Amino acid sequence: MTTTTLTDLPAGSVVPTRYWHPLADGRVQCDLCPRECKLGEGQRGLCFVRARLGGKVVLTGYGRSSGFCVDPIEKKPLHHFLPGTPVLSFGTAGCNLACRFCQNWDISKSLETDTLSAVAGPEDIAAAAAEHGCRSVAFTYNDPVIFHEYAIDVARACRARGIRAVAVTAGYVNPEPRAEFYRHMDAANVDLKAFTEKFYHDVCAARLAPVLETLEYIHRETRVWLELTTLLIPGLNDGDDELEQLTRWVADRLGVDVPIHFSAFHPDWRMLDRPPTPPAILSRARKIARANGLHYAYTGNVHDRDGDTTCCHGCGADLIVRDWYRILEWRLTDDGHCQRCGIRCAGVFEGPPGHWGPRRLPVTLHTGHHG
Ligand code: SF4
Repeated sequence: MTTTTLTDLPAGSVVPTRYWHPLADGRVQCDLCPRECKLGEGQRGLCFVRARLGGKVVLTGYGRSSGFCVDPIEKKPLHHFLPGTPVLSFGTAGCNLACRFCQNWDISKSLETDTLSAVAGPEDIAAAAAEHGCRSVAFTYNDPVIFHEYAIDVARACRARGIRAVAVTAGYVNPEPRAEFYRHMDAANVDLKAFTEKFYHDVCAARLAPVLETLEYIHRETRVWLELTTLLIPGLNDGDDELEQLTRWVADRLGVDVPIHFSAFHPDWRMLDRPPTPPAILSRARKIARANGLHYAYTGNVHDRDGDTTCCHGCGADLIVRDWYRILEWRLTDDGHCQRCGIRCAGVFEGPPGHWGPRRLPVTLHTGHHG
C-alpha cells in the first residue's frame, strides 16, 4: 500500500466504486480483486489506481490513458476473433499483479501522473475506433480489471456503435465484479502464466486458483470468446510435466476448442537473469497441447509459420496461414467453416478476413464527444 497525495488529481478523473466494504478496525477493504487491499485514508492499493478518499474506495485515472494505437487483432493475441481486423488498443496505469518478468512495466508500475497523458472519455474512444475502421477496442498493456468502471463505460459506448470490446487480462478478479465486467466484453485473452501456485506466488505475488476460476467462469457462464496465453520462461514454467497438466486441464475444463498461445519470454523488468525462450521450447509446448487434444495451439513472439497456422481439426487443411500478424492464406467460408471438409472452426468469423496486416498506428484522440 502506498500513501500519496490524492488531493491534486484532475477533475473528473476520480469516480466512486462499488466493490468495497468498511472493516471493524476503521480501514476499508477493496473487494475488486483477490488482493483485497485494506486501506487507511489517503492510501492507494497495490494497483495504484484505486485508493481510499473521503472514507470510500475510488478509482483514480478515470478517462485518462497512456496512449492509443491501432494494431492487428492477432497481436492481442486473438487468432479466432474477426481475423485480420484492426483493433484500437489502449491502457492506463498500474496493475494488480507484480510479475517480475512484466513486458509493460513502464506502464504497469507507474503512477498515473507519470503516464496518463491522454484524456479520453468513453465516447471519444468509441468515436476514434469508428473513425479508424476498428471492429473492436482492446483494454491491454495493463490489466483492465483495475479500471473496471472506465473499461465498462468504454465497452458500452463502443457496443452502441457496433464495435466489440476485448479484454487482455490476467483474470485476477473477484466473482461479483467479474460477472459485471464480462457482461460487457465480447472477447478475452487471459494469461495463464503457469500451472503452479509456487510460480504465481514467487514470480507474480498472486495465486493461481482465482485465475482458474475466472477461466471456468468465462467458459461456462458467458458468451465471451476466450483465448489463452502462456509466456514460457526457461526453467520456471516450461517443464514437460507442468505443460502436460496445464493443457490437460484446459482440455478437460475449458474444452478442446479454446486456443492457446505459447509465447516467448524476453529478459525484462526485474527478470534479466533468464535467457530468451528458445523457439524449440515453444514448439514442444504446442506439441504437448495438441497431443492432449487441443485443436488450436500456437507459438507467439517468434517467426514460426507452422506455429502460427490454424489447421482444420477435421481434415488437417491449413485454414489460416499467418506470418507475423499478416494473413497469407485463408480457407474458411464467411461463417467460419473449412472450405474443404465443411467442419466449423471455433471462433467469431464474420465474412472474409480483414486486411489490416502487421501495421501499428499510434493515434491521437479528438476529445469532447458526449454520449
Ligand atoms: S483492485 Fe487494486 S486496490 Fe483493489 S484489491 Fe486489487 S490491488 Fe488492491
